[in-house]
Formats: sequence, structure tokens, C-alpha cells
Amino acid sequence: MNLEEYRAKRDFEKTPEPRGEQQGGGKSRFVVQRHQASHLHYDFRLEMEGVLKSWAVPKAIPLEPGVRRLAVQVEDHPIAYVGFAGKIPEGEYGAGTVEIWDKGEYKLDNKATNRIEITLTGEKLSGSYVLIHTDGKNWLLIKRKTKQE
Ligand code: MN
Repeated sequence: MNLEEYRAKRDFEKTPEPRGEQQGGGKSRFVVQRHQASHLHYDFRLEMEGVLKSWAVPKAIPLEPGVRRLAVQVEDHPIAYVGFAGKIPEGEYGAGTVEIWDKGEYKLDNKATNRIEITLTGEKLSGSYVLIHTDGKNWLLIKRKTKQE
């Protein structure tokens, strides 16, 4: 819920990433960033509680219902990161190339301690998804069947 860990890991004199300010309210956006770091992964971020709640998904984001993917929760990122794409320099935290793979808005359908149910409206991703906390920083990201399917 605060950006201390995010900022502590980065040298904003060197990385083009935003330092960011914590913001409140407003629209609920999501972004998926394709991050070609030492290992390719997808960063899944939801605007929530004034920050971007963030998960690193080592495999592709599921497009088909029933597919479950490990999503490792990482530190909250500032809202400004929702539009970030660029190159993080060698030697910096997360060094590599960040591209926006998909973005859009989401509706929060239900939220409990270990479960976040959302409906995404993006360009590539749409429909109902659930994040389920399993243990530690590990969550599962699952695309759910929607009534039309
Ligand atoms: Mn990343």
C-alpha cells in the first residue's frame, strides 16, 4: 500500500521508470507489461487503493478459460507506471525492455483476503478473471468461463 519498497529498489537518476506519487480513487485501470528482463515475464497490474497492485507472471497471461498461471506478487507500483514502457539500464533493478502488452479498465467483482475477482476490458484480454492467493507471494491467475462462452 505504499511505494517505499518500489523506490528503495530503484535509482531514479538512472532508470527512466517513474518515481510516482500515491494517488487515490478514480478509474480502475489495468496494464500488462511484457518485460524482457533476465527472464521474460508479464507484469500484471491493477489500479487499486491508490497504487498498482502488481504480479509477475512467468508464462503468458491465460486467454482460454480454465488455464491457470502462477502470478508472483511483487511490490506495489505507482499509478504512473500504468503507462510505462522503456528500457531499464543494465545493472539497474529489472534491467531490460518493458513494453505495454495490453491495457484497459477492469471492474472489481469481488474481493476477499485470498481472492480478487475481476472483469477485464482490454484489447487482448477481456472477460472474467480470478486471482487466488495460494501461499507466500504466490497467486494463481485464472481466466474464468463467462456466460456467453
Ligand atoms: Mn517485471
